[in-house]
Amino acid sequence: MAAVTASDPEGRNGIGMTSARTRERLVQRLSASGIRNEAVLERIRAVPRHLFIDEALASRAYEDSALPIGKGQTISQPYIVALMTQALIEGGRPEKVLEVGTGCGYQSAILAPLVGQLFTIERIASLQRAARQRLTSLGFGNVRFRHGDGFEGWPGQAPFNGILVAAAPGEIPSALLDQLAPGGRLVMPVGPPGQQELVRMTRTANGIEREHLCWVSFVPLVEGKG
Ligand code: SAH
Repeated sequence: MAAVTASDPEGRNGIGMTSARTRERLVQRLSASGIRNEAVLERIRAVPRHLFIDEALASRAYEDSALPIGKGQTISQPYIVALMTQALIEGGRPEKVLEVGTGCGYQSAILAPLVGQLFTIERIASLQRAARQRLTSLGFGNVRFRHGDGFEGWPGQAPFNGILVAAAPGEIPSALLDQLAPGGRLVMPVGPPGQQELVRMTRTANGIEREHLCWVSFVPLVEGKG
């Protein structure tokens, strides 16, 4: 339960299954699974994941699993959020970052303090509104939100030093590669259900370099606004 008390009016600290101790166990698990970046682990420690999901699921907030957030969508598994964030930032702090698939905003909350400015797009209006409200009330000042289709990227703000996509298309959308700045990194799942790989694409002086990170299971990237 997200208990609200006088000293913790928004229930951020949590109690019992949502307490700091429970969160610390998740950090230990991710660290043992190969998440080495201290700044990323610190974000997992700091962000109250239980506030991003339905209260009925709060006791499961610090399990390392994906959970439903409504509209057939899920909050990503913490290990995958941490891995993608680490893959995006390990070359240095990216100034401008585009996130596709805001969902409940958990990945945005992990990422925002690790980048200069975060631009996040979600195609389902109700999820987009709820995430905007939640992140604004938690005090994130460097995030801009858009209800739109991530296949198109965010042309008015391009180029980006980093792009992170939280849903899987069959092929990497060309607009996203086009909106990658020199040295920029795109971290995303790609492929059909059952055969999705997480890749990192880097724009180098010799063109786009592709790295395989691991096999994953994401919801599909769907074309058009919902
Ligand atoms: N990062 C999110 C994960 C959300 S799941 C979190 O931490 O909760 C992926 C999200 O991508 C869903 O909310 C889905 O609606 C959204 N999505 C799917 N296709 C999209 C598209 N073309 N443009 C923008 N968002 C999209």
